[in-house]
Amino acid sequence: MIKTSNNQIYIIMYHYVRKIKKSDYPNLKGLEFSDFKKQIKFFKKNFQILSNIEFVEILKKKTIQKKKSVLLTFDDGYKDHYEYVFPFLKKNKISANFYPPTMCIKNKKVLDVNKIHFILEKEKNREKILNNIFFYTKKFLKKDPDQLRLNQINLKSRYDNKKTVLIKRLLQNHLPFYFREKIVDKIFKDIVNEEEVEFSKKLYMSKKNLQELYKNGFTIGSHGYNHFWWEKINKIEQEKEISKSINYFKKIKVLDNNLSVCYPYGSFNSQTLALMKKYKVKYALTTRTGGIDRKNIKNNFAFPRFDTNDFI
Ligand SMILES: [Zn+2]
Repeated sequence: MIKTSNNQIYIIMYHYVRKIKKSDYPNLKGLEFSDFKKQIKFFKKNFQILSNIEFVEILKKKTIQKKKSVLLTFDDGYKDHYEYVFPFLKKNKISANFYPPTMCIKNKKVLDVNKIHFILEKEKNREKILNNIFFYTKKFLKKDPDQLRLNQINLKSRYDNKKTVLIKRLLQNHLPFYFREKIVDKIFKDIVNEEEVEFSKKLYMSKKNLQELYKNGFTIGSHGYNHFWWEKINKIEQEKEISKSINYFKKIKVLDNNLSVCYPYGSFNSQTLALMKKYKVKYALTTRTGGIDRKNIKNNFAFPRFDTNDFI
């Protein structure tokens, strides 16, 4: 667990929160619901848990209160957040922000990044998955593994072993975009063997779920439309990612005046920052690690966060 101090705000990042061991995917990397409950009780006792409005007020005044505080953020719109997180937080009168990628809610697709999680969950033998990837790159790209510039991939990670990182990097951003999607899809079908629309309905919240969260005072923020790496797309495409997600939230009536954005994969560039101003976004979140203090509070379009595991 990290050391915390007064006059600091800690934004906490959550992904999967479920009864993992009892589920159909017991090896999924995520937070056990019982550990989540413990963590929230710990925050309740030792921190002030901020609502989105309270956090926006702090940003306006640019003064951080003495008592250390946390803001809870849930990425990727998982059904977990509706089934487990929402009732528990509601019961304890605690606020939180949710960042669903609009495409998953609207089009019943499954993000490549999530397909990769479930491929890794199902097949423990990493070598086998890598061989699968190389088989399809040979088939579709007509390339052998030694032509894939594997030595250029950064294998450092806070969470995974090297082979797992290699699989993730290859499938998330190293292989050319079009083939990557096709290869992930093939391997997902081979290994996880689930139908995409049905799997999507189980994995993500529905429109109704989001509306219920909103009606109960929770905040919905933008996590883009397609969950792309924003650094890798141009300004026009970035703008589409933001505007399409905002328009959808407007349409289903879950948008308030204090809009925040959570960059998919924490990825952004100078063009993103200009768009944040254009769309009057109040603040934006990265996946960089850190807290918020007097020094970086003005840097409100690049706030760092802590992973839930940093507090366990
Ligand atoms: Zn995400």
